[in-house]
Amino acid sequence: MVVDKSDASVETPKRSGWEIRDEEERRAKNHEGDPHDIRALRIAHSAAFVKGIKEYRQRQPTNTTSSEMAPSSSVARVFVRARPLFAHEAQRGEWNCVSADPALGDLVVHSGSERVVAGKGIVPSLGHQSYPGVTPLMTDEDVYKGLQYLVQTAAEGGKSTLFMYGMTGSGKTHSMAGIHQRAPADIFGALSGAGTVQLTAYELVGKRCFDLLSEDDETKREVYLRIGEDDHTHVCGNTERATSTPSELQQMLQVASGRRETAATGTNLSSSRSHAVYHLLLPSRGSFMMIDLAGNEGNLETFFHDREQMAEAAEINASLMAVNSCLRARATGAGHAPFRESTLTRVLRDAFTEPSSCLALLACVSPASSHLERTTCTLKNAVKLLGDGPLPTMVV
Ligand code: ADP
Ligand code: MG
Repeated sequence: MVVDKSDASVETPKRSGWEIRDEEERRAKNHEGDPHDIRALRIAHSAAFVKGIKEYRQRQPTNTTSSEMAPSSSVARVFVRARPLFAHEAQRGEWNCVSADPALGDLVVHSGSERVVAGKGIVPSLGHQSYPGVTPLMTDEDVYKGLQYLVQTAAEGGKSTLFMYGMTGSGKTHSMAGIHQRAPADIFGALSGAGTVQLTAYELVGKRCFDLLSEDDETKREVYLRIGEDDHTHVCGNTERATSTPSELQQMLQVASGRRETAATGTNLSSSRSHAVYHLLLPSRGSFMMIDLAGNEGNLETFFHDREQMAEAAEINASLMAVNSCLRARATGAGHAPFRESTLTRVLRDAFTEPSSCLALLACVSPASSHLERTTCTLKNAVKLLGDGPLPTMVV
């Protein structure tokens, strides 16, 4: 019997979950669309939605209940930033489904759907969901001004920690770069020209940790996490850099964040599934910790079949949930911060347990209509941090 194997050569190789994620991240970077999204969007009544959203925005009285006035915990605060809709997204029929202009009041997410109405067929229907209590920040400058109090706290000897949270492609790293650019001048300004600032930077991938400041330019060096007798988790052997000028600090932060894109030997690494931690230690003994979290993509485990990848995905989800729970415990003052639930929160233990530490989360969202579900998920998680504060409300 002759077995025809010709088909085997054209078979699409099975792709792992991480490969699919990497492909998505590459598409986001190269501004390429997802053919499935395009098809869905084409059938939608995009023109009607765009018109409806424009009318909604025009109806809003300006400068009324600015979210900046919303009550927010002084120990843990929540901010939101929506990146702009890119030209390539608009070209493929997406519309901007987030109104995040503080002048228009609360942040609002617009959801378009289609309903079958007797006698009229399929009609477009637009819903508006408002998120009171979160402060929308628009430009890099707004973001820095909103978060500047963290730098001030550190300069005065306190501990401040900032998290960038959101799906891949929502602007976490972009917003972090804006902070890296602006914070050094303020930090050294507060030192009145005297003293040095120490920087360590590392990346957590699952339970592994990589130095982002090692001397070797080509690869990231793996360093080790050690749980001490005091139950503290220490990062061991990573590079500490000291500097006494703002421009040098800016450059170091840039190098460290650029290093994230470099593959480490033996790992198939992509920045969307790692957490980057930039830790500044000031002469006042204050510290400013900036964390660019892994992409909040939801249901990661369902993607993977390989044991190691599943463990990594589970660790990402566990760490994002643990960060949320720890922040919520601090923001609401309700209960103990469950920092033991993930490697990341173990490493960041002090940020969650020291009563004087100051925490902030910048929820980054994409305004593209095809990302509505993930945008809503990010915002709902962010709003939960406000505890029993205002919940999302439907606005008509
Ligand atoms: P993330 O780190 O959340 O995956 P990035 O910060 O890499 O997302 O942003 C994805 C893309 O969008 C990048 O090309 C970035 O330059 C761009 N981008 C993000 N936020 C903004 C913004 N506020 N203005 C202009 N471009 C932005
Ligand atoms: Mg990123």
